[in-house]
Amino acid sequence: MITTRNLSISYLGRPALRDVNLEIPRGEVLAIVGPSGCGKSSFLSALNRLTDLVPEARVTGQVMVDGQDIFGSTQNRLALRRKIGMIFQRPNPFAMSVRRNMELAQREFGVRNRDALETRSRTALQAVGLWDEVQDRMTQSALQLSGGQQQRLCIARALALEPEVLLLDEPCSSLDPISSQRIETLIRDLRDKLTVVIVTHNLAQARRVADRVAVFWTKDQVGQLIESGETETIFSRPSDPLVADYLQGRQG
Ligand code: ADP
Ligand code: MG
Repeated sequence: MITTRNLSISYLGRPALRDVNLEIPRGEVLAIVGPSGCGKSSFLSALNRLTDLVPEARVTGQVMVDGQDIFGSTQNRLALRRKIGMIFQRPNPFAMSVRRNMELAQREFGVRNRDALETRSRTALQAVGLWDEVQDRMTQSALQLSGGQQQRLCIARALALEPEVLLLDEPCSSLDPISSQRIETLIRDLRDKLTVVIVTHNLAQARRVADRVAVFWTKDQVGQLIESGETETIFSRPSDPLVADYLQGRQG
C-alpha cells in the first residue's frame, strides 16, 4: 500500500530523518516506536504530505501510495488527505456541535445529501463505539465530550471520509487507561478494513495491536529506521542490540 524510498526530512537544513525505506502492506497495522525526537511524527506527516504545511521542512526521496509518488506533480493533495486520515496526540475536534464535526469534511468532499450525511456519520460513530453515547448530544458542542470521547470523535470524523489509511500519532498519550483501551480495541477492529500506522510510546500497546513494528532511532544526531519486521520477531528476537535494550526497557 505504502512504500517509502530513501525518505529524508530536514528542518531549516538540519536533517531530522534519513533514508527511510519501509513497506506498509495494505490492511495491516504498523506500529512505529522509538525515543522522542527520532523523527516518528515527521515520518507520519510526510505520508500524507502534512509536511507541506511546515515551511521549514524539506522532504526528499519518495512516498509511493498505490504505486504513485505522492510528492509527484500529478497528485491531488485534497484527494490524498481524504485517502489518508490523520489523528493527533491531543484530540482536536472543532469548537462546534458533534454533528457539524462529523459533517464538515464530508461536505467539503462533496457529500451533500442529508440522508447520506446522517447515515455516514452514524456508521462512523458506531464504528468507534460512540453512537450510543452521543446520539442524544449531536447538537451539543464536541468540546463538552470527555477526552476519550473527543479522540473517538476525531477518529469517527476521519472514518466518515472512508479513508484507506489512518495515521495515528500517539493517539492515547493524553487519555486515561480505559479510554486508551477502547482506542486500542478500535484499532484492532480496523485491521483488514484499512491500513493503520500508529506511533506509540507504549511498547506493550505496540505489541498488542501491530502486525509489524518499525523502530526509529537517533544515530549520529539523525533519526533513522533501525529495525522493522513482524511484531513477534521484533519483540522476541530483535537483531540490533540497541533495539533489544529499548524493547526490554533498559534504554530509551
Ligand atoms: P518524534 O515524533 O519522534 O518525537 P519529530 O518528528 O517530532 O520526532 O522530530 C524529529 C526532529 O525534528 C527533532 O529533532 C525535532 O526537534 C525536529 N523538528 C520537528 N519539527 C520541527 C520543526 N517544525 N522545525 C524544526 N525542527 C523540527
Ligand atoms: Mg512525535
